[in-house]
Amino acid sequence: MSTILSKEQLTSIANEYGTPVYVYHAEKITEQHNKLKQAFQQSPTRFFYASKALTNINILKHLRTLGCDIDCSSINEVKLALYAGYDPKNILYTSNGIAFSEIEEAVSLGVNVNIDSLSNLEKFGKKYGHSYPVGIRLRPNIMAGGNLKISTGHEKSKFGIPIEQLDKILALVAQQNIFIQGLHVHTGSEIKDVSVFMKVADIFFDLVPHFPEVSFLDLGGGFKVPYKEDEIGTDVPELGAKVAEVIQKLKETYNRNFETWFEPGKFIVSECGYFITEVNVMKQSGATVFAGVNSGFNHLIRPMFYDSYHRIENISNSGAAKHPYTIVGNICETDTFAWDRPISEIREGDLLVFYNAGAYGFEMGSNYNSRFKPAQVLVRNGEAHLIGKRDSFEDLLKNQVELPF
Ligand SMILES: *Cc1c(COP(=O)(O)O)cnc(C)c1O
Repeated sequence: MSTILSKEQLTSIANEYGTPVYVYHAEKITEQHNKLKQAFQQSPTRFFYASKALTNINILKHLRTLGCDIDCSSINEVKLALYAGYDPKNILYTSNGIAFSEIEEAVSLGVNVNIDSLSNLEKFGKKYGHSYPVGIRLRPNIMAGGNLKISTGHEKSKFGIPIEQLDKILALVAQQNIFIQGLHVHTGSEIKDVSVFMKVADIFFDLVPHFPEVSFLDLGGGFKVPYKEDEIGTDVPELGAKVAEVIQKLKETYNRNFETWFEPGKFIVSECGYFITEVNVMKQSGATVFAGVNSGFNHLIRPMFYDSYHRIENISNSGAAKHPYTIVGNICETDTFAWDRPISEIREGDLLVFYNAGAYGFEMGSNYNSRFKPAQVLVRNGEAHLIGKRDSFEDLLKNQVELPF
């Protein structure tokens, strides 16, 4: 079965469910998960889907049935994962900057936790001592990732305990007899270069002797996927082979077995997603031709927030000659999706599709300008299912408390 949805399928979904609409393809998610499994066959590896990329409950359930584990960035994501049927053992809560009460809640739910500050590590030690295994999130001071906003491991980043504070970590661990079961580093998103992961592996290699109870080494997520036509993603098979070498070397050096953990978000769900919009207005201004769609950064913020590139296609006129268009939204802000992008001739009413919209698309959406969040559709076994309704007017008022006037 093809893992690409055709223009005909997308058009018929737009006709049936209206626009704007996010469409996800279950078989593409399966394919990405299989790529990971195959690439890392040579050494014990677990994949925790970074659910913040896309938390629709059906996506979580689909991944659970594939045998994928799940990584959460808030206690509510932990609860969503439990709701989707994940065993607490297969849930990882990689926290950053959270209140200790959330860590207590995570422990009471029985999930794996990575702690990212000395302060919470100390509280953890005082409360649980050696009774609950925990991972520590370290900041390796490595610059990596597609751009600064999505780079999390550098020396000015808020994430993780700075590696130069190792002495303090070790003192706390000794003092409170903390059960450190894993070491974690997530250097950022869109990391094409396999050597970044290997640098982290080298750091782990030197840290391991300090932590005799560590059984997993968590290299985080951040695998790059191709957004542009000529881009290539992270070479996952190469990474798998290199990681297997390191794990083997660790075993020989320290006479212990280690698991590798990963937390891919984008790699698993980016390419399964299509965002379909409709052109409201065409506008000419000098050499610029604007195509204004019925969406904006309230539905897909990545182009404005990260300067991200999403491939855009006019599926209503795909055979036509290409012209440069500036694709903009209908929000009262400058919400430009693309500048002077060559696209098949655009007319009002045409459907424009944004590709690779599965990760951090709907999920980063909002109701800004009091517009509705889009509907979400999942294609599975060739059939389209509504998995998220478009907002209605009532949703805009749902949490507002009206005073008497
Ligand atoms: C966001 C995040 C990920 C996933 O990043 P991707 O670029 O989507 O793979 C993994 N781990 C942690 C801790 C994260 O915050």
